[in-house]
Amino acid sequence: MPTKAYAASSPTSSLAPFTLNRRDLLPTDVAIEILYCGVCHSDLHQARNEWSGTIYPCVPGHEIVGRVTKVGAQVKRFKPGDLAAVGCMVDSCGVCKSCKRGLEQYCEAFPTWTYNGQDKHLGGPTFGGYSDAIVVDEAFTLRISDKVNLAATAPLLCAGITTYSPLRHWKVGPGKKVGVVGLGGLGHMAVKFARAFGAHVVLFTTSPRKVEDGLRLGAHEVVVSSDANQMAKHQRSFDFIIDAVSADHDINAYLSLLGLDGTLTLVGAPEKPLPVAAFNLLLPRRSFAGSGIGGIAETQEMLDFCAEHEITSDVEVIAIQQINEAYERLLKGDVRYRFVIDMASLRDA
Ligand code: NAP
Ligand code: ZN
Repeated sequence: MPTKAYAASSPTSSLAPFTLNRRDLLPTDVAIEILYCGVCHSDLHQARNEWSGTIYPCVPGHEIVGRVTKVGAQVKRFKPGDLAAVGCMVDSCGVCKSCKRGLEQYCEAFPTWTYNGQDKHLGGPTFGGYSDAIVVDEAFTLRISDKVNLAATAPLLCAGITTYSPLRHWKVGPGKKVGVVGLGGLGHMAVKFARAFGAHVVLFTTSPRKVEDGLRLGAHEVVVSSDANQMAKHQRSFDFIIDAVSADHDINAYLSLLGLDGTLTLVGAPEKPLPVAAFNLLLPRRSFAGSGIGGIAETQEMLDFCAEHEITSDVEVIAIQQINEAYERLLKGDVRYRFVIDMASLRDA
């Protein structure tokens, strides 16, 4: 099916209109008209080949909400007219240890990413949500409540699950002191979740202009990381820190804030390696970890948790024609706190 989209055709080109081909529905497939798609910093890393391996033309977008238009003969959980959502993965092997545990994102045969993956059925690369419609196996399609704000729910599909999953895994809750580094799309969801889980939340930001927002979003304290006195006050005091920074930064400054047996988990994926000083880990027995998105079952759990607790993302809705400007603003940390594309702008163009 020819489908309207926006694509990058090289690491240095702007995103521009492009027509892609969606596969015809397989018996277990769901076709979704995309209503909103969030703009993740990963989209920018990938469009500009910052992690290498980008296949061009590249249609980014993995925070997708929309309405089901058609279902395959064997689809059980969706019917035309239902709301549906798609995150970062559209397939996995289904049989390895990770998949069996519901951790498809760690599939040993590698999950099929929503974009820049390999479509097992159609062949060729997968294309993401900066498009009119998508066809996805129902096993990788999420349900969303019809009571939620759809634009503000879209970012939960990546920024939401990527922060929810490690906060749950490392058992963040009452009595725990938790740090969040970087107030962007992921960071602002981490603040909201850590607060909702009952932890004492401290936000670290490089942007003094974000202090008030940090408090409003749920942080108990906000530290401007360039302020050495404020940083010194928190030395050796954290149980857990989640680092959601998209660019090069001093990881040792945050490792030294962990207390005994504390863990710093990286969810940000900067282009360059981050050097770690050995003694920052040895004393006092600190852990430096990482975490990638979340499995399908946990993503559904997170969406249901958000619907129940009225948690959504703070969004700035844009037209697809503003995507290149939005990328430039992302690079300046100038987003409050997620751009979301209203896909009607693509259909109306
Ligand atoms: P974003 O909205 O652009 O936010 C990144 C934030 O990092 C900025 O708002 C800024 O916060 C801080 N920052 C930016 N440049 C910095 C610098 N040079 N030094 C210190 N802080 C800086 O990005 P996002 O969409 O939240 O994504 C964040 C990262 O997570 C990206 O690398 C993305 O690829 C990655 N990611 C990983 C996963 C996963 O599965 N692990 C999933 C999605 C995204 P302040 O202004 O508050 O300092
Ligand atoms: Zn993402």
